[in-house]
Amino acid sequence: MLKKSLSVVLSVLMMLGAMSCAFAAEGDAPSSFGYYKHVFIIGVDGAGAAFDKVESPNFDRIFGSNAYRHNAVTEDITVSAQNWGSILTGVTYDTHGFTNDSTGKNKRQAGCENPSIFYYARQKFPDAKLVSFNNWSNINHGIIEYGLGVNKINRKSDPLLTQSIVRYFESGNKPDLMFVQLDSVDHAAHSHGGFSDEYYDAVKKMDGYLGQIYDAIAGAGLMDDGLFILVADHGETTNGHGGNTPEEMAAVLAVAGKTVNQTILPETAHNRDVSAIALYALGIEQPEQMVSSVPEGLFGAEKDKVADLGSEELPVADKLGNFLLKMLDAFVSLFDWIASV
Ligand SMILES: [Zn+2]
Repeated sequence: MLKKSLSVVLSVLMMLGAMSCAFAAEGDAPSSFGYYKHVFIIGVDGAGAAFDKVESPNFDRIFGSNAYRHNAVTEDITVSAQNWGSILTGVTYDTHGFTNDSTGKNKRQAGCENPSIFYYARQKFPDAKLVSFNNWSNINHGIIEYGLGVNKINRKSDPLLTQSIVRYFESGNKPDLMFVQLDSVDHAAHSHGGFSDEYYDAVKKMDGYLGQIYDAIAGAGLMDDGLFILVADHGETTNGHGGNTPEEMAAVLAVAGKTVNQTILPETAHNRDVSAIALYALGIEQPEQMVSSVPEGLFGAEKDKVADLGSEELPVADKLGNFLLKMLDAFVSLFDWIASV
């Protein structure tokens, strides 16, 4: 008898287990995500602090009431792979060891040391939708691991890449983690120098791509619980980059989202902090070896809730003040009426 009831209890438990698995699989996103369900990282190669030096209406409308710093700190070496490597792994370049050469040659597989943030996202959320759009395909080849189910899309020009991204969202895709690397600003610096008209023109065009990408994401309703990040790997001088001048070692870091404060990020903010911000936003615990951090003052209360505070019960002193103001208004109206009779 005991055996029989035990087996009935076990069968019921197994049925319940199977049902909960079925429900979990049907959900839009894994139920244990952090505050944000989507993190979008837009990387602009060679942008440095240049969004501050040109008319950039899209930058202003997206980040003006959010958090940014035009000159966040880069790695000591202002080379692309060294910085994109740190931005995506959260460790410094002397730990990850990526170079432009190695990332072109070595196909990176899942299970390596110093994994990218895509690895941690996949570990925590087996069903997460992960995507990476590159102009410079070294990142998709040699930094972001194969074998994680990251949808890797490479296009040789920024207009084509932007078009692909816009279409991707128009087709109803809702990625949990997205990385984008655009390259035309760096190309302009290599051809004409970092203080040239051509360079600044490229940054202005980049502001247009930024707006198109943001609008595609927001238009799909994904900014309701999405975090939108802009970051550069390094800046440029007359001879391009690679040195340690202030221009080369400055990189824009800008973040927009519902709980992002309207603030200038502290001068200690690094471009590699993107990795910490992304994991934090998705509710993933930061692994020990990562040396990036969420800049102080970046996140606050949910903005809608902040706005709602206005409709809360007023303190007694304010109520009395409002009552007196209304009485005063009434008296003024009465005197006006008497004067007019
Ligand atoms: Zn670069």
